[in-house]
Amino acid sequence: MQNPIWTLSQVLLATGGRFLAGRTEAGFRRVCTDSRAVEPGDLFVALRGETFDGHAYLAQAVEKGAAGLLVETMPEKMPPVPVVLVADTLRALGDLAAYRRSLMPDLQVVAMTGSCGKTTVKEMIAAILEREYNVLKTKGNFNNLIGLPLSLLPVELHHDFAVLEMGMNQPGEIARLTEIADPDIACITNVQDAHLAGLSDINGVARAKGELFAGIKAWGKLVVNIDDKRVRGIARRCSQKKITFGRSPKADIRGLRLRSLGERGMAFTLKIGSNVGRVNIRGLGAHNVQNALAAAGMAHAAGVKFKDIVAGLESFAPFEKRLQVQKLSGGIRLVNDAYNANPSSVLAALDTLRQMDRTHKKVVILGDMLELGAQSVASHQDIGKQVARLGFDGLLVVGDFAETLVSAAWKAGMSKKKAMFFAKKEQITDWLRESIDAGFLRPGDWVLVKGSRGMRMETITHDLLEKQ
Ligand code: ATP
Ligand code: MG
Repeated sequence: MQNPIWTLSQVLLATGGRFLAGRTEAGFRRVCTDSRAVEPGDLFVALRGETFDGHAYLAQAVEKGAAGLLVETMPEKMPPVPVVLVADTLRALGDLAAYRRSLMPDLQVVAMTGSCGKTTVKEMIAAILEREYNVLKTKGNFNNLIGLPLSLLPVELHHDFAVLEMGMNQPGEIARLTEIADPDIACITNVQDAHLAGLSDINGVARAKGELFAGIKAWGKLVVNIDDKRVRGIARRCSQKKITFGRSPKADIRGLRLRSLGERGMAFTLKIGSNVGRVNIRGLGAHNVQNALAAAGMAHAAGVKFKDIVAGLESFAPFEKRLQVQKLSGGIRLVNDAYNANPSSVLAALDTLRQMDRTHKKVVILGDMLELGAQSVASHQDIGKQVARLGFDGLLVVGDFAETLVSAAWKAGMSKKKAMFFAKKEQITDWLRESIDAGFLRPGDWVLVKGSRGMRMETITHDLLEKQ
């Protein structure tokens, strides 16, 4: 077992917990919340979720070698390892991460929130910083009250930067994440109508995202999307140093002369003060240039040189199911954006598809955008209208709002032969297969697939993907 990095007294100090039983000189190697993943020497934190309760797995955790347990309720049978009792284990998990962060005074924490583009910006800024520094970053999409502490807890003295994504669906969550991470550099990528269900309206989203800037220390730096009026509004109320990015000539970090490189990504001119250079990024669509500017702004705030910012952005590699171009059988080009969807990311994806070459057919396959609350019908209607307006060769939709979306497309002039809704995803797979067989879809044609995570839209193209 590696040396413990947590002493029991630190755990008690960080969480304000009560020591129930066990050896007082105990030490822990890691903090773990998944009993299946416990390794010898870990402190197991029993979280209570909607469908699971970590307290049911205390014995399993001990069996796997847990050296201590952090709980909300007394175990029925006292285990042979130290037990710490707290009022709220989720809160305690955050407290542990905050404590660990406080032990790293030289660490620079870089944090981003926003309606879309958080993970992309996180990967871009990490790609820039990793060239010269030791970087700890959020794994995947671990951006909530569980994921952010788990991302931050492994921080070590040798890390120069921690790059952390912050997500939310309730007011107050970003404030708490900000308190835990204590960022030095913070960015709100944009404020759009995502996750409305818990937040009533877009102003509620703006207030919730604004909690990030509001929680930054006086000497911290704010990276501001100058093209987004709600982000501008949030920044206006803050007095920390600001670095702006966007298309506006007033921005400190500007992106000019955007050009699509087709499936290879985007080219643009990056301008920071008197430094100007052409950059190719492997992300598709104009919104990814915006994401690159956000990352460049954060890197600039961290003191990274212009040439390293350019080289870092060029080394960024996009990841699965986010506007990823893949080949389907029959030589069809799939733009796989099945990872998630909200109104603005669907519009960004449609715009990206529209900008692909003009010689091939373009078909749009959509699933429901979830979590939009009272805006659901209007948002789906709006997307239907936009698809019709932009003039695609096919629109196939599945989900509870499929009929709503397609009816709006019909109303906006798209023919019933081109725009269709289906009850099941398999029907769309069958349609694709038949269209390839009948020669309606030919090599080089484009198919965009997008929907909210809960729709699991990737299953539509799963059987049609060519093994690479
Ligand atoms: P999540 O809330 O699921 O964590 P996220 O904010 O981390 O999402 P990404 O994973 O980077 O966002 O991107 C998700 C999708 O949002 C992308 O596939 C793309 O379609 C869209 N998107 C990314 N950046 C932007 C942007 N700046 N503006 C609009 N849409 C964007
Ligand atoms: Mg994300």
